[in-house]
Amino acid sequence: MKLKNPYIHSILILLLFLTVAVLLWLTKHNIFYLFNFGYIGISISLGIFLFSRKYPYARRVVQLLVGLYMLVYLGIICRENMQIEGFWYYLFTGVFEAATIHYAVAKIFGPLLFGRGWCGYACWTAMILDFLPYKIPAGPRKKIGWIRYIVFALSLVFVGALFLFGIRDKEGIMFTAFLVGNAVYYGVGILLAFLLKDNRAFCKYICPVTVFLKPMSYFSLLRIKCDKEKCVGCGKCRKVCPMNVDMTDNSRKRENGTECILCMECVKNCPKNAL
Ligand code: SF4
Ligand code: SF4
Ligand code: SF4
Repeated sequence: MKLKNPYIHSILILLLFLTVAVLLWLTKHNIFYLFNFGYIGISISLGIFLFSRKYPYARRVVQLLVGLYMLVYLGIICRENMQIEGFWYYLFTGVFEAATIHYAVAKIFGPLLFGRGWCGYACWTAMILDFLPYKIPAGPRKKIGWIRYIVFALSLVFVGALFLFGIRDKEGIMFTAFLVGNAVYYGVGILLAFLLKDNRAFCKYICPVTVFLKPMSYFSLLRIKCDKEKCVGCGKCRKVCPMNVDMTDNSRKRENGTECILCMECVKNCPKNAL
């Protein structure tokens, strides 16, 4: 992915988010969407702008701006369960509101356009995990990615049971589930990072959202590409990738291609500007 004119990218992303913000505001008659998607769009385009100015913590700035907003404002203050359980919950109640729209935009249809940008720039779980010391994984990937499917199924069973058994105060339970779920995610994520010496171990093996993210990001329009004319095969890019992606292979089937979080570490470290 080349940022030949980074200002254009920054403006285009802002316009895209503002369009979504205005469309949802007008169709849902709720000004919250204007504020919500406007804020996220401004945060992301600010990050792209900072990246273009070679500010080394550009991605972290966006991650904190968006991640804290989602966790503290939407999750804790507005009591909206934005985890996968919240998605099932609002889907079952037939309410196409914040959590379902959030999943549709960021995690189901959005990845067709911007891949796993959510994972690199907005996720509040990874926002904390990225502070840990193992930014570059110490070893090769483990073959335990199947765990994510179990977590995915359990989340569905949990919410399904609330409806099946006619449990009262589902809203209250969902808020408690959000708080407990996040605490568990942070605990497991931090533990795994230290055990496997890999900050993103949770993302690679446990996170249930990747069941949506991976297949959709396979088709992503936005992706890192390698200019074979410039590449000298030094391998520096692969060494710094937190997700073990083979970004020197331009095919869709490249190794761990659906894991790319667009963090741009490979781009920053390529001595030949080949990425
Ligand atoms: S894989 Fe899951 S935990 Fe990791 S960044 Fe993506 S959504 Fe967040
Ligand atoms: S760092 Fe650049 S030159 Fe080296 S292998 Fe990667 S793309 Fe090629
Ligand atoms: S280092 Fe490159 S290939 Fe790896 S996740 Fe970041 S952007 Fe994607």
